[in-house]
Amino acid sequence: MKILVLNCGSSSIKYQLFDMQSNSVLAKGLAQRVGQTGSTIDFRKGNDGKKDVYTMDIPDHKVGIQKIFDLLTDKQTGVVKSLSELDAVGHRIVHGGDKFAHSVLITEEVKNAIKDCIHFAPLHNPPNLKGVEAIEAIMPDIRQVAVFDTSFHQTMAPEAYIYGIPYRFYRDKKIRRYGFHGTSHRYVARRAAELLGKALEECKLITVHLGNGCSVCAVDKGKSVDTSMGHTPLEGLVMGTRCGDMDPALILHLMKDENLSVAEMDNLLNKSSGVLGISEISSDLRDLEEGWPNKSEKANLALDVYSHRIKKYIGAYMAVLNGCDAIIWTAGVGENSPIVRSIVHKNMDWFGIKLDLDKNEVTWRGAEGDITTPDSKVKVLVIPTNEELIIAQDTMEIISN
Ligand code: AMP
Repeated sequence: MKILVLNCGSSSIKYQLFDMQSNSVLAKGLAQRVGQTGSTIDFRKGNDGKKDVYTMDIPDHKVGIQKIFDLLTDKQTGVVKSLSELDAVGHRIVHGGDKFAHSVLITEEVKNAIKDCIHFAPLHNPPNLKGVEAIEAIMPDIRQVAVFDTSFHQTMAPEAYIYGIPYRFYRDKKIRRYGFHGTSHRYVARRAAELLGKALEECKLITVHLGNGCSVCAVDKGKSVDTSMGHTPLEGLVMGTRCGDMDPALILHLMKDENLSVAEMDNLLNKSSGVLGISEISSDLRDLEEGWPNKSEKANLALDVYSHRIKKYIGAYMAVLNGCDAIIWTAGVGENSPIVRSIVHKNMDWFGIKLDLDKNEVTWRGAEGDITTPDSKVKVLVIPTNEELIIAQDTMEIISN
């Protein structure tokens, strides 16, 4: 069975073609600058093949997907003879509101429900839907599956998702915590249980996804019971350019004091805050870590604030879970930053966490590893995330039933 996984952003299309029998990636890549000048498509055979970059006109998502299909079926460089070899397409859909607790086969009704959630994720759901509609136009008979970032967190209880504002906002407008990165938290939790040699239903886990966006999740018996991102992906951890948790009164104060419009405030909180805002250097942790701890005071401060917030959430989720078997680090920073991992886990031995500093130093992207000492009661694992695989597996399961 061959399954194409698509993640359509506003100007990008990330794709991966899986052969589910051999559990392998046949090809993968990324179309960039869709709808802009200078569009390109990266194409890589297999998981680690050489990356070829093609420059071409890609005015919209439909043309982009058609060009990706041309590359996949190209006589010389392609990986399938024709599109008829594809069995299904799985899509990453960012927001499913409270309508979807699982992945689903895409129907007209599902498309309408995804449209109803556009106001929750105005930047993400519209391009996600464009991908679905492009496939419908190119391959009208193929089955498509929606895998939502939010659905994993639908198991949260009201005490975790209701905000302390008048209840009518939840009742009338569905304002509540939704949580994001669900596919990633779900994947690493499952993989952690395998590495721990325990059933997922017996595990208490805290998963820490640190990429461009950052979130922590408390996973009890395989189910999300709390997560740091909220109604939008702005809440929780300090991120590259996003502020995370702060006193809401500050927003009112700054808008008044600096005479900021709603759009300007939105931009400040989402684009100019986080480690970029604090360090005044960069949103990319690699830039702050180079030369650490002697780079600059502001670089150190940004790393410390970033790490302190993660530590706080880990402590909070240990309380929520009443203990924890393992903490799992994943995504760009989580997989690659021994510095952040060591700052966060410093002085956590009271919790039963003892980091093995040597193992921590050598665990980099692509590698799975336990970075604690043998006598550490709570394990700390680094697990590379694989959201595409979860999307492919959900898609296979749904079309097989
Ligand atoms: P992702 O969204 O998972 O691709 O993660 C992207 C982020 O990972 C970038 O913004 C970088 O800050 C971070 N990152 C990637 N490589 C490293 C590294 N070697 N050390 C620290 N951070 C990294």
